[in-house]
Amino acid sequence: IKIKVTKIDIPVSFASAFEGEIIRRGDMQVEFDGSRVDCFELVEAKDASEVEDHKIEVIGPDFDEFEVGSKHSIGYVVEVAGKSMQADFEPVFERKFHNYLNCIEGVMHTGQRDMIRIRVSKNAFDAGFRAKHIGEVLYARIKNEFDAVVDKCQVKVITDPELCTKMRHETAIPLFDKRDDRLATLTDESVDVYYSCIMCQAFSPSHVCVVTPERLGLCGAVSWLDAKATNELDPQGPCQVITKEKPIDERIGEYEDVNEAVKLYSQGALEEVSLYSIMEKPMTSCGCFECICGIEPFSNGVVITNREYAGMTPLGMTFSELASMTGGGVQTPGFMGHGKHFISSKKFMKAEGGIERIVWMPKELKESVAERLNETAKELYGIDNFTDMIGDETIAEDPETLLAFLTEKGHPALGMDPMM
Ligand code: SF4
Ligand code: ZN
Repeated sequence: IKIKVTKIDIPVSFASAFEGEIIRRGDMQVEFDGSRVDCFELVEAKDASEVEDHKIEVIGPDFDEFEVGSKHSIGYVVEVAGKSMQADFEPVFERKFHNYLNCIEGVMHTGQRDMIRIRVSKNAFDAGFRAKHIGEVLYARIKNEFDAVVDKCQVKVITDPELCTKMRHETAIPLFDKRDDRLATLTDESVDVYYSCIMCQAFSPSHVCVVTPERLGLCGAVSWLDAKATNELDPQGPCQVITKEKPIDERIGEYEDVNEAVKLYSQGALEEVSLYSIMEKPMTSCGCFECICGIEPFSNGVVITNREYAGMTPLGMTFSELASMTGGGVQTPGFMGHGKHFISSKKFMKAEGGIERIVWMPKELKESVAERLNETAKELYGIDNFTDMIGDETIAEDPETLLAFLTEKGHPALGMDPMM
């Protein structure tokens, strides 16, 4: 017998009305910030014998032990078991955490995987909200929403910083990489359908992501396989099948069927979208992109920056300044939000010449994508160690210095057609 969980045992309210709630620095009791310390969120399918239903475990200090306004590590693992559970569903459940935690009054959540940020307000804390309540919410929502496949569910909330570091690197990241590798063999041409995703419409009402094997959702958390699983779990849900039978322009990746779908799911706000161009009908962005790519006119190239990088880019803007002009579900030619993994994709702004246009990235980002990016550059253009030609903040933070560096390296973008 399956018991449907309806009430959630927490000391504050839980409702979608709180989803857009912003918690300002001055109002927060405690913050967990994956861009500064080790954090992660994870779902793992387990054997039934390993899961005790409704067991909520807190490992590490509770919120009482943190100084008001301080920043800490957090990790939470939701372990589920069920006869029809598939490992393919793990990332789909995981992506719902954003929505679940935001529905808690006095809790704000952004990001995914190991790049999450959570704020708990002073009011929620005063009402008695503690670490275990995160577990209660995740337990109740997962059991409620995915009862078709989840029979048992237990949650570990980890605030012990050393364990967070260990688990992030030894458990979470390898698992995320494994999921990403499964996709590596799929191409846009090798599949018959793409998927839409409208999970972000709570924040960006007209935003639609079109998810293809070679272009994951801009949040970085919804791959084509994830979108497919989401659709299988919930055929009426946020991810719908998009056929790709009527190409309009293969160069920019425009299809009649994709346009129709985007128009439908954006409630008419968006009529045409391309999959492979940043200049012509680019895909829109909500607010949770991992990276932003913007054109750099002096070099004919593009600069990419990521959420974790707080510094300046050669465009004269930081990530948050670029984000404020790129988000909101509107098309902004020349700028687009995208997932980290898209950077090494053969479809990355293919219409404008592809990854050869990349002239600058923050050092850390560059290093984290180097292996795949270099592989793609070798395969597409026969360039060895392409990332050595790409600038970063230790080389240049302004366009003149960058241009001098690119010239010295013989960067291919310098010889390409102007982008505008
Ligand atoms: Fe879906 Fe796109 Fe939002 Fe990711 S960013 S959850 S793919 S709508
Ligand atoms: Zn979003």
